[in-house]
Amino acid sequence: MSEQGHSRPVTRITIVGGGTAGWMAAAAISKVLRGLPGLTIRLVESEAIGTVGVGEATIPQIVGFNQLLGIDEAEFVRETHATYKLGIEFVDWTRLGHRYVHPFGTYGIDMLGIEFHHFWLRGLALGETAGLDDYSIGAVAARAGRYFPPQPGQPNSPLARLAYAFQFDAGRYGAYLRRLAEAQGVVRIEGRVVQVHQHPETGFVTAVQMENGDMVDGELFIDCSGFRSLLLGEALGVPFIDWSKWLPCDRAVAMPCSSAGPDQPITRSTARPAGWQWRIPLQHRIGNGHVYASAFLDDDAALDLLLANLDGRPLADPNRIRFTGGHRARLWDRNVVALGLAGGFLEPLESTAIHLVQAGIARLMAYFPSLDFTPKEIDRFNVETAREYLDIRDFLVLHYKATTRDDSEFWNYCRTLEPPDGLREKLEMFRSSGRVIREHNELFTETSWLSVMAGQGIVAGGWHPAAEILDEGELKRRLGHVRQVIAQAVGQMPTQEQFLREQGSAI
Ligand code: FAD
Repeated sequence: MSEQGHSRPVTRITIVGGGTAGWMAAAAISKVLRGLPGLTIRLVESEAIGTVGVGEATIPQIVGFNQLLGIDEAEFVRETHATYKLGIEFVDWTRLGHRYVHPFGTYGIDMLGIEFHHFWLRGLALGETAGLDDYSIGAVAARAGRYFPPQPGQPNSPLARLAYAFQFDAGRYGAYLRRLAEAQGVVRIEGRVVQVHQHPETGFVTAVQMENGDMVDGELFIDCSGFRSLLLGEALGVPFIDWSKWLPCDRAVAMPCSSAGPDQPITRSTARPAGWQWRIPLQHRIGNGHVYASAFLDDDAALDLLLANLDGRPLADPNRIRFTGGHRARLWDRNVVALGLAGGFLEPLESTAIHLVQAGIARLMAYFPSLDFTPKEIDRFNVETAREYLDIRDFLVLHYKATTRDDSEFWNYCRTLEPPDGLREKLEMFRSSGRVIREHNELFTETSWLSVMAGQGIVAGGWHPAAEILDEGELKRRLGHVRQVIAQAVGQMPTQEQFLREQGSAI
């Protein structure tokens, strides 16, 4: 006990697993806690087991993570062969032949202090035909293949409303973070963990045993061992909450292909008869994968469909992955915290997995334990984490539920499924009044919920009464002005290719 009556902070941390999750944790924790006396961080990983090898698209929160690590963006983009990402384009989700963008950033401009989309909704009723995409600088720039960084210091420019993320080579990202972490004192131990040792009474993990007999001990263990969940799932037996009823996709087959260079700064998701296909353009190749429900499509047919829909020459053998949507009932149990796939997985439709790792690290830092591991903090960590998974789940389910597709058994299942309660409430509110509910600062903002609800063809039954303040002529004039200002700003942006060259990030 210290003078204040608290036990001392944990200082000996062992991370099991060196995928994206493990190296993100190692890099961030060694940076944040660098002044802590006696801090020792070790990371155990097995080259023979390898990493999951996918995970290339991110969301804007990663920009803050990189800043925390003091990463130079131009160098980072070059090293990870990254491109910029301004949103996700959804093709054939609402109905065959339809497309819409879920952009980062916000729509329109500030209009009388209420959300822009209420004016857009009223405009539609008055015969305006422009879709929401035309009011998003991110969507318009992405489709034009252009990129320029947001300009928060110019509040009158649409560039102030832009937000961005990256698409990168996950293997290169891991290697980049490893260099950072090792430079900050993290010690890497190569080899396979064969046994997890626990205290006979408390069940706390005391050490992991390597294949060569070496023991790696620790006070706090961070389980980043991937789907196997070696410590939290296998050793501590924390059960898995299975959400496959709402998220029936349970397999993926991934395969990169050649590309002609950086193209549109956007991830594309194209709906398929029993799932969907991702397309992530990097500087040196395009990442592709087909996510599907094995109850509706067999593995060979899934691969055939992927191969038939590549833009270039295949660059690797197919990487087949099985998963279940859901998460461990507690991501922190005793002295084990799980990050990444060891804690849970929600399919990559909205590129949230790397963010969940980042959020888990931030939460672990907020509730960083003392040696007495007080249950209050641990419970709080678990409540907040479960809430975050649930919010994201509901957002993902929205994409499946709000479809008009009836051309396959899979889509019939999705269209007719009972939505979870939180999602039902959001749908009812939007349908009746055009309002978008955002709970407790959840990850996806009003813009995100709106873009997917409107994009998937849900019709709002009304708009905010204040949208009536402008007369019809003034409303249409202002809407036209917003579209024009956005189009002009995009016209002045460089292409992504030019920008990468000028920034010194092109490979
Ligand atoms: P892994 O990469 O599996 O790493 C596990 C580590 O544990 C490895 O280093 C392994 O060697 C080690 N290990 C395991 N067992 C042992 C042992 N016994 N001894 C020693 N070491 C061991 N995320 C996004 O943000 N965007 C995306 O676009 C995206 N797309 C995805 C698509 C698919 C199909 C899947 C499955 C995931 C996707 N993800 C995406 C998620 C992303 O890939 C992962 O969240 C991220 O890579 C973290 O993985 P991980 O580090 O938890 O696990």
